[in-house]
Amino acid sequence: MRAIDLIEKKKRGLELSKEEINFLVDAYCKEEVKGYQMAAFLMAVCFKGMSLDETTNFTLAIRDSGDRLREEDFPFSLADKHSTGGVGDKTTGIVMALAAAAGVKICKMSGRGLGHTGGTIDKFESIPGFTSSLDEDKIYNILRSSGICILGQTKNLAPADKKIYALRDVTATVDSIPLIASSIMGKKLASPNKSIVLDVKCGSGAFMKDLSSAEELAKTMVAIGKKTGRKVRAIISNMDQPLGQRVENRSEIAEMIRVLDGKGPSDIKELSLELASHMISLDKDLDIDKAREIIGEKLEDKSGLKLFYDLVKNQGGDLASIEKLDDFEEADFNLDLLADKSGYISRLDAELIGKAASVLGAGRENLEDSIDFSASVFLNKKIGDRLEKGDKILSLKTSKETLLIPAMELVKKALTISNNKTTYKLIYKIIE
Ligand code: URA
Repeated sequence: MRAIDLIEKKKRGLELSKEEINFLVDAYCKEEVKGYQMAAFLMAVCFKGMSLDETTNFTLAIRDSGDRLREEDFPFSLADKHSTGGVGDKTTGIVMALAAAAGVKICKMSGRGLGHTGGTIDKFESIPGFTSSLDEDKIYNILRSSGICILGQTKNLAPADKKIYALRDVTATVDSIPLIASSIMGKKLASPNKSIVLDVKCGSGAFMKDLSSAEELAKTMVAIGKKTGRKVRAIISNMDQPLGQRVENRSEIAEMIRVLDGKGPSDIKELSLELASHMISLDKDLDIDKAREIIGEKLEDKSGLKLFYDLVKNQGGDLASIEKLDDFEEADFNLDLLADKSGYISRLDAELIGKAASVLGAGRENLEDSIDFSASVFLNKKIGDRLEKGDKILSLKTSKETLLIPAMELVKKALTISNNKTTYKLIYKIIE
């Protein structure tokens, strides 16, 4: 087989066979197919697309490029949840704790933040002592007792995706639905999860900027899951503004705890409850209304909160440090943005707010950069909220004072104040 023939075939919009896709991915990993050839193939996919069979085969080739956790290694069934990436998206910790309180077991592989979106591992590692690297015995013991753990992605998890993603990043080939779907599902399928709930983000802070592409991505991933024997459901949710009030690391942990304690902002609570309900509905084959009732009880009786603390303790996190949440999320330097006129917030651009948090020190440009866990943006007002002149809209927090002004310039660009109240729909659609 020759890469040039496969590129030619895709350029003409023809379907590649399983063997041809396996050859391409495998030979690229071995560097027998060159980067420029893979780049040409990826660009052809951007223009001509891939059929569901091709996308599934591409997904499986990515999955099989590295280590896999196998179903037979786990004496119980596992569930998973994945978000396509957003700003202030702290649902994972809340959803895991609530679903585990309802008897679901989750061994979550999570990533770090890059660019304007945060990563679950960074959020949890902002708790002193917390580790996302556990040995196998510890993982089984934790899963047996409290049912949840969060692990960093191992180096050899779907290495083909790392290599292909790096190439997509520099060849303007990221925004292709079959490539995104196979990249996400290739990693998901490397774990033996029987059920997977996908939170597909749509809006200014997401990969998918409009509902029709978010829906297409959701349908593709659900279809790949079904073709490979998993139970998959996708929730399409709005990412035009950040979720909740806090954007980035320590403060997001504080917000997770507030929500599990029955407090916290309504949007993050609504989405977390919905995702957790779909998780137990899929995992335990329950009617969704019954699942919502159970999850509501787990929030009410604080059993989710107890399991969250267990998760932190089991993975070495210092519980004393999160005892006083206000102290935990304090930063050395703060700057408030006040309203220069009265009206309603009609736009709060998630991507720009995420970038501002990154500028404050919460993000990294390269994976090896270190981050300032106290850096964050606190949103006092959200889309649809009424403002009077002089009201506090948001606060910037950092340990480096000089970063406040550049971050302030970004958040000002993120904001529009209008005379009329806009409504904000949080959950668009469920795809299954
Ligand atoms: N997340 C991934 O893991 N891959 C993509 O291609 C896009 C988002």
